Amino acid sequence: METKNRIITRTVRIGKNLLMGGGNPIVVQTMCNTHTSDVEATVAQIRELSEAGAELVRITVPGLQDVPKVKEIMEILRSEGNFVPVVADIHFSADTAIAVAPLVEKVRINPGNFHKNYETARELFIKFIAVCKQHDTAIRIGVNYGSLGAQITEKFGNTPLGMAMAALDWIKMCEQEGFHNYVVSLKASNTVTMSRAYSSLINLLKESDMEIPPMHVGVTEAGGGDTGRIKSCVGIATVLSEGIGDTIRVSLTEPPVNEIPVARYLAHAEKGDPMLDAAITWGPKLLKGEIDRIPEDAGVSQYLDDEIMQAARRRFYKPDYIACPGCGRTMYNLQETFEQVKARTSHLKDIVIAVMGCIVNGPGEMADADWGYVGEGGGKVSIYKKGQPILRHVPDYEAIDKLLELITQHTEEDL
Ligand code: SF4
Repeated sequence: METKNRIITRTVRIGKNLLMGGGNPIVVQTMCNTHTSDVEATVAQIRELSEAGAELVRITVPGLQDVPKVKEIMEILRSEGNFVPVVADIHFSADTAIAVAPLVEKVRINPGNFHKNYETARELFIKFIAVCKQHDTAIRIGVNYGSLGAQITEKFGNTPLGMAMAALDWIKMCEQEGFHNYVVSLKASNTVTMSRAYSSLINLLKESDMEIPPMHVGVTEAGGGDTGRIKSCVGIATVLSEGIGDTIRVSLTEPPVNEIPVARYLAHAEKGDPMLDAAITWGPKLLKGEIDRIPEDAGVSQYLDDEIMQAARRRFYKPDYIACPGCGRTMYNLQETFEQVKARTSHLKDIVIAVMGCIVNGPGEMADADWGYVGEGGGKVSIYKKGQPILRHVPDYEAIDKLLELITQHTEEDL
């Protein structure tokens, strides 16, 4: 991978010992897919992930009822001498973010989701910052494509620039509050969108003459298997090749421990895996428009050529799948269902199918999908078409059949 000189960001300290940004080595991180309410399973997974090389581990905290569980998890880990910094992943609930901030090393939030009303969201974010300041807790401002809020989309659309502007807004607020212990991410499942969003934000910060915070880089909902690995490498390597990136997460719809070798490969610029090397070499050139195809004499197999071209969104030889990695909010056996959906839809073309673990975040995070399979909980599934639910409460044992039925019916109607 040709890498520009790394952009020097501000150094942020996560917990006592982990330094992120400021030219420090790229931090490898991942996220548990256990239910946080299951303390034993979550502690066991954090242990497994930290032993496998995760330097930072995230756990989901769906609501206030889970905060005491986080306390228990932290106490057990620390009493065992495991000091891996833990990140609490919060969606929507400012109360939960505020309650959990004193217990963990870092909290990931999308402040825009704190409230539908922008002014209220700002007020809640300021309250949250004050708590983080008091307890020396770091923050990740996690902006995701598809959940930017009307305030941004009305002016900039659902675009990479819109993502960068949303982040800039919250960055400015942190600075105004004198809070500097934060990291920023701009994630999308579309590699073109995510890579452009990071470049846009860096340009905006440079234009404003502002110090650049550490950047957390990742492709969301990349799926699993070769496709998920290739898509992640294409997107993340492109951003790294621009000199951007202080921490990375490879999201795979697989056990989270499988993410770590791929993330380490990217973070440490390793070589020797032909598939990852091809994705890392050719993906950035394709995404940045330096080439239109992988040269024939590059020694890349037809299969890898197809996969890399699709990951770079240059040629689609099979459906594009979006699948979340799963977390403590996941409502069903995500990996098994995703494999079944892929097996039964692989004959389709020019279609984006999303398989999402929960109804809370799934719909927002699959903004580009033509079709969505979203777990509701209690063995029920919602089926979405172009971001709108068209069938709710479908029993999971018949949901894939229904999805296929609807796709066929709508394809025929569209003909
Ligand atoms: S969409 Fe998937 S990864 Fe995101 S919160 Fe829901 S279950 Fe977790």
